[in-house]
This record gives sequence, structure tokens and C-alpha cells, in this order.
Amino acid sequence: MFDKPANAVTLFDGGPLSNWRRRDGSPARWEVEDGVMTVVAGTGDICSEEQFTDAWVHVEWREPHMPDKTGQAKGNSGVYLQGRYEIQVLDSYGWESPGLGDCGAVYNQFAPLVNACKPAGEWQTYDIIFRAARVDESGQVLSNARLTVFQNGIVIHNNVELLGPTGGALDEEVARPGPLLLQDHGDPVSYRNVWLVHLPPQGSTTYEPH
Ligand code: MG
Repeated sequence: MFDKPANAVTLFDGGPLSNWRRRDGSPARWEVEDGVMTVVAGTGDICSEEQFTDAWVHVEWREPHMPDKTGQAKGNSGVYLQGRYEIQVLDSYGWESPGLGDCGAVYNQFAPLVNACKPAGEWQTYDIIFRAARVDESGQVLSNARLTVFQNGIVIHNNVELLGPTGGALDEEVARPGPLLLQDHGDPVSYRNVWLVHLPPQGSTTYEPH
């Protein structure tokens, strides 16, 4: 849908996972082959070294074929903005009314507006426009994080204000920059072509005619 902008920061383009770490800071141990990284069950979530606040995040992923599984056991992973807010990754293809735990949901907070899922085995995209929480000098939250999400070019979240970090968040310190975290939920979900563009917190507040 979108071309990778020239100012994008590459998080994964097929190379080694030297810029990804496990939660405990040790090296990521997911499998990398032919430009694709795949969850190795039990090796844990992986976090980008790159930290961000406001950003446009692009992720491509592919569901494994798991025809004997259902619900949360079918191709579960997740994309966590700042390591705190999970956009669910799941094989929810064909569900008429995806709910709070289905693919595209902000986990347990907002269901996707529509089901934009492709079948297992096909590559899918998330383009997430993320606005970090705003806090005052004492750390009091002035506004929660917000996001808009395109899945496969279809809007599935329209500028929703999140309720706070989702389950499994790295921490609750929403004022701090955080990494992109990809979830090991025990299923061999694959990822490729992961990048982000840092966004300024706001544009100019003045106008100087040219
Ligand atoms: Mg998940």
C-alpha cells in the first residue's frame, strides 16, 4: 500500500537479529531464513533496540497453517507499540464479527472495525500511526496513546484513544519511549520488512507567509 519512505528506520529487512533483544536483554533467538523471521516457540518476545514515541510503524506478517487449532491458539502473536500496547496477530480469517481478542484488535480494548484478514500463508501488513501518551512535568497523563491502523490497506482503527497499556506490557511508564515488541505466543508466526518513521510531536505553531 505504502512505499517505504526514505527516512524510515529499518528494524528488520532480512538480516540478522542483532538489533533485537529478548525481554531480559539477551540476544533474540527467532529463526531467520530467506529474509523472514519466525517465532521459535519458547524463546520469548523480541524487542527492537530502536525506541520511539510518535511513529508510523510498518510490519508484514504471515500466519502459519494451523487447521486443527481455534481461537487464541491459532497463529497467535502480537505487535506491541512501545512494548505496551498490543495489536493482536491471529488467524481470524473469515470471522464475520471479530472481537476484542481477534486479529487486529487492540487487545481487550478495541475490536477492529472490520475483518481485513487474509488467509494463513499469505503476507499481511499493518501500518500503524501511533501517537504516544502525553504527560505533564509531574508525569500525570494528560492524554492516552492514540492510534490509527491500516491492515492490508483497510482502516481497522480510526484514531482510537487507548485505555492504557494492554496485558503483557513491558511496563506502565507511558511517558518513556519504548521499543517495538513482537510476541512469542508459542506459534510459528513469521515477520518481514519491519520499519518505522519517527514523527514529530506536532507541526509548527506559527505561520510565516512565503
Ligand atoms: Mg497475541
